[in-house]
Amino acid sequence: MLGKPVTVLKGVGPKRKKILATLGVHLIEDLLYYIPRSYRDRSKIVSIAHVKPEGEVTVQGIVKGIKKQRSRRGRSLVKIAFKDESGIAYATWFNQPYLYQQLKQGEEVLISGRLNVDLWEKQKRREFVHPVLEKTSDAEGLEAGRIVPQYSMTEGLNQKQFRRWVKEALDKFTRGLVEFLPQITLEKNKLCSRQEALWNIHLPQDQAAIDIAYRRLVFEEFFLLQLKLLKNQQYWQRKKGISHMRKGDIISRYLKRLPFKLTGCQQRAWYEINEDMEAPNPMNRLLQGDVGSGKTVLAVLSLLKSCENGCQGALMAPTEILAEQHYNRLAGIFSFLDLSCTLLTGRQSPREKQNIYRHIEEGTVSIVIGTHALIQESVTFQRLGMVVIDEQHRFGVEQREKLIKKGVVPDVLVMTATPIPRSLAVTLYGDLDVSVLKEKPPGRKPVVTRIRTTGSRQKIYSFVDEQVEGGKQVYVVCPLVNESEKLAVEAAENMFKKLSADIFPHRQIGLIHGQLTAAEKYKVMERFQNGEIQILVATSVIEVGVDVPQATVMLIEDAHRFGIAQLHQLRGRVGRGSQQSYCVLLSDATESIARQRLKALEKTNDGFKLAEEDLRLRGPGELFGLKQHGLMGLRVGDLYQDREILFMARQSAREVLQLAVAGSDILENEMGKRFPGHVAR
Ligand code: ADP
Ligand code: MG
Repeated sequence: MLGKPVTVLKGVGPKRKKILATLGVHLIEDLLYYIPRSYRDRSKIVSIAHVKPEGEVTVQGIVKGIKKQRSRRGRSLVKIAFKDESGIAYATWFNQPYLYQQLKQGEEVLISGRLNVDLWEKQKRREFVHPVLEKTSDAEGLEAGRIVPQYSMTEGLNQKQFRRWVKEALDKFTRGLVEFLPQITLEKNKLCSRQEALWNIHLPQDQAAIDIAYRRLVFEEFFLLQLKLLKNQQYWQRKKGISHMRKGDIISRYLKRLPFKLTGCQQRAWYEINEDMEAPNPMNRLLQGDVGSGKTVLAVLSLLKSCENGCQGALMAPTEILAEQHYNRLAGIFSFLDLSCTLLTGRQSPREKQNIYRHIEEGTVSIVIGTHALIQESVTFQRLGMVVIDEQHRFGVEQREKLIKKGVVPDVLVMTATPIPRSLAVTLYGDLDVSVLKEKPPGRKPVVTRIRTTGSRQKIYSFVDEQVEGGKQVYVVCPLVNESEKLAVEAAENMFKKLSADIFPHRQIGLIHGQLTAAEKYKVMERFQNGEIQILVATSVIEVGVDVPQATVMLIEDAHRFGIAQLHQLRGRVGRGSQQSYCVLLSDATESIARQRLKALEKTNDGFKLAEEDLRLRGPGELFGLKQHGLMGLRVGDLYQDREILFMARQSAREVLQLAVAGSDILENEMGKRFPGHVAR
C-alpha cells in the first residue's frame, strides 16, 4: 500500500511530484519516512490574560471583529479581535486578504504566535503578529492546538501542504499496515508497531510518543540493513572458493628476506588472513590500519600465498602514482622469489597493454599491480585467486565487484587507512571480517605537529630551509578553495612561483596537482622521490599513500579548510623514516570548531582517536565529510546519535538469522525493498 506514487494525494500533480522527488520522496512510503526535522509545541492552550510577549504561545478564542486595511506601504492587512473568558487579543496578517472572506464573527479559532512587543509595552495591548491560524471547525487540526511537525522544505513546497499530504497518506494507507519485524524482535527490544510509529512521528500527542516512534523507525532501518549485510556475509561463507593451502617455500623465503620483524598486530592479521585463505569458502576481509602501519606487507603475503597455490594475484590501487610506487617497491622482491610481476595502468601504450593482457591471460604473469586499468574488459586472468584492493574507500562498489568477477571466487582483502569508529564500520562493512593494525612499526617518532598563524611565515621558512640544508624534503600543501579544483591549482601555482622566485631561489621546487597529466605527475613524483626536488608544492592530490622517507616537513596552508581525516592523511606523508618529522598547520582561523579540529591534530597522532573526535565535533548528520544520509541509503537513523540502537539492531539481526525466522517472506521482501542491490564485496 505504501508503494503508491505520491500523485495519488490531493494536490500533487506533475509539478509537485517533481519537487517532492528532489527531497527523495517518490512514493507514499518515502513521504511517511520523511521524518520531521523538529516539532513546535502548540499543544498547550494559554488563556489570553496570561499571554506574555516572550516566546510563542497558543490561545483559543471566539472572533469578535474582522477588518481589512491597507498599510501605509500599500500592503493588505487583515486584523481580527478575539476573546476567551479571560480577556481580549488581536491578530494581524499581511498580504493574506483572503482571510477576510474565510473568517466569520462568532467562529472559534486557534492562534499560535508571538505578541508585538511594542504594542504590549506601550499600550498593554495583546496583538499577535502574523500568527499561525486554525479554525477549530477545520477537522484536520494540523496547525495549532497540538504538537506540530516541522519538515525540511525546499523551494515550491510549504509546511502546511506537506502536513496535509502526510495526514492524508496516514489516513488512507496505514490502516491495517502489515508488521514485518518478527514478534520476538519487537518484544525483546520493546518496540512499538510500525503503524503506531508512523502516526506518532508525524502527529504525536507528546514528546514521549515521538521518542517511542523514532526509536522504532531507527531500529527498523538499521535492522533491515544489518540483516542484509549479514545475509550477504552468510551467502559468501557458504559459497565454495579456493582453499589456498600451505605449499612451497615462497612465503618463508619472503619473510626471511624482510629487513624487519612483523609487529604483533601484523602477525595477528596474517594469522587471520591465513586462516581465511585456507578455508574452502572465500575470504572477505577488511584490513584497517593507519597510514604507515604496514599494510603492504600483508598484501604481499596474501598475494604470495595465492601464487604458492598456482593462482594469480592482483593488487589494485586508486592512483597511478600509488600503483607505480607499489610496483617499484615490490617488483624486486617478486623477481627474487622467481615470480613474474607486471604493472598495468592507463599510461601504457596500447601495444604494451596488448602484450600484458596476453601474459595475464596465458598465466605467464603471476602478480599484476595496477589501477582501474585492471578492470577493463580486455583483462582476463588465467586463474585469479587473490584480489587486494588498496585504499578501498576510493573505489566504488561496482569497481571492486568488477575486479573480483575476474576470478571465479577469489579471496578478497580490502585495505583502508581511514580509521573509522565502530558504528560506521558496522554500517559500511558489516559484511566483512575485520583485522586492525593498531600499533605502528617500532622506531617511528610521532610527527611533531604545531598550529601557526601566517604571522610566523618567516620563521617557518627558515626552519624549512634548515631542514633542506640537512638533506630533508618538504611538502607544501595548498587547500581546495570553494570546492574548486581550478582555484586550488591557481593557488598552488602562485605558491610555487613565490617560493621559487622569492623565498627559496637557491632550492629545487616542484609542483604537482590534479590537472597535470598522469605522465607529468609521475615525473614530478619521481624527481621528488630521488631527491632532485627538495620542496614540493601540491594540492591535496598527494593525500593518498605516497611514500618518501626523506620527507620530514609537511606544511599545510589554510589548514582549517581541511577536515580532520584529510589532515591526518596528509600528515601521514611524513614521519615515514626514522628521523623526527614535523607538520605545520598554518591557519589564521579563529572559529571555535576549526580551532578544536586543529588542536586535536596537535594533541595526538592516533587515527582512531582522531576519528572519534571528528565524529564528536561534526555532530550528527555528517561523518568524514560524507553526508551520512545517503550513505548506505539511510533516511532515519544517525550513526553517531543512534549508535546504541544500531548495535542492538545488529545483535537482533544476528539472532533472527540464526533462528531462521528471517526466511519469513514479508521481512525478506521489506529488506530487498529498502536496500536493493546492495552487494557485499
Ligand atoms: P601503509 O599501511 O600506510 O600502507 P606501508 O605498508 O607502506 O604502510 O608501510 C610503511 C613503512 O613501514 C614501509 O616503509 C614499510 O617497509 C615499513 N614497515 C612495515 N612493517 C614494518 C615492521 N614490522 N617493522 C618495521 N618497518 C615496517
Ligand atoms: Mg599503503
